[in-house]
Amino acid sequence: MGRCSKRPNVGGETAKIFGTRLILINPRFNGRQCKIGLDFNGIVIVLNQTSLLKKQIQTLAGFHSFVLLNFWYTIGKTFLPTLTWRRSEGTKVVYLTFDDGPHPDITRWVIQELDKVGAKGSFFVVGENAQTHPDVLSELEKNGHSIGNHTYHHLKGWGISTAAYMHDIDQCNDVIHEKRLFRPPFGRINFGAIKPLSTEYEIVMWDVLTKDYLKGLNTKKAQKRIQKATKSGSIVVFHDSIKANPNLKVLLPDYLQFLAKEGYEMRAL
Ligand SMILES: [Zn+2]
Repeated sequence: MGRCSKRPNVGGETAKIFGTRLILINPRFNGRQCKIGLDFNGIVIVLNQTSLLKKQIQTLAGFHSFVLLNFWYTIGKTFLPTLTWRRSEGTKVVYLTFDDGPHPDITRWVIQELDKVGAKGSFFVVGENAQTHPDVLSELEKNGHSIGNHTYHHLKGWGISTAAYMHDIDQCNDVIHEKRLFRPPFGRINFGAIKPLSTEYEIVMWDVLTKDYLKGLNTKKAQKRIQKATKSGSIVVFHDSIKANPNLKVLLPDYLQFLAKEGYEMRAL
């Protein structure tokens, strides 16, 4: 946890909790009371004076992640309409997507689960994982699932050059040989890359996020939330990764049953 410094600063002292950046501003000299700012990629919002109790900071960190995600989603949908956030469909169709694989056990488990209800999915693979597990990649193709590009190194698009970002995407394509679908890791696309990418790829975002990657996710609540958010044309994000695996195993089977019961067709993008 970051400590308060003696002079006012913005962006100097930071605490990183759950991957979220908190800034401590205008601290008092006793070292325990600070103002807390939330850094939205350079735009700092100052919150009230508060004691730096670990629990409070964690709550703020969670709130920050929530706001940032929803903020980005709203802004993105409004100002980046070239990206696909949902497919409008007249019929009851849902697009299930799985990011960050392939993984030899987890991806194969997903394939089996999808098979049980006759569903096809779209797998946004990380190039280096695809290179390590070409057999799993072939299995996906053989079973009629779509393969999408998720960069080679699972790169965040913000804070790096467009050239470096494009290069990493090309590197992934050298492994998967499939220039059709792209999803930016962390949902953070490099803005300069949108135009060149759009000529070759459909850039696929989502409208239903399972948050299966969250440690300690309340899967009961999450199940309710994703079912409620599902509409015709929805693009749903799961992860076939080690990190998400415990939640994925709980969420996916019940969600597939729900979709089948509701009469949704589950198609690949
Ligand atoms: Zn990812």
